[in-house]
Amino acid sequence: MDTQKTATIVNCPTCKKSVAWGEQSPFRPFCSKRCQEVDFGDWASENFSIPGAPAILDALDDEDIIQH
Ligand SMILES: [Zn+2]
Repeated sequence: MDTQKTATIVNCPTCKKSVAWGEQSPFRPFCSKRCQEVDFGDWASENFSIPGAPAILDALDDEDIIQH
């Protein structure tokens, strides 16, 4: 029962490298600052692509209103 000694290892979301969850890994769960920035860039670009979809739904809504 010495679970306190068990090191927690996570995988870097960007490159899947093993990263020790501790003070030695300031960018955890990422292995490095570079991987952290790459992941944030992906998230930001996904966010930017979303505004296109609701516009199409709005157009369909308007058409529906005209038919009534
Ligand atoms: Zn990484």
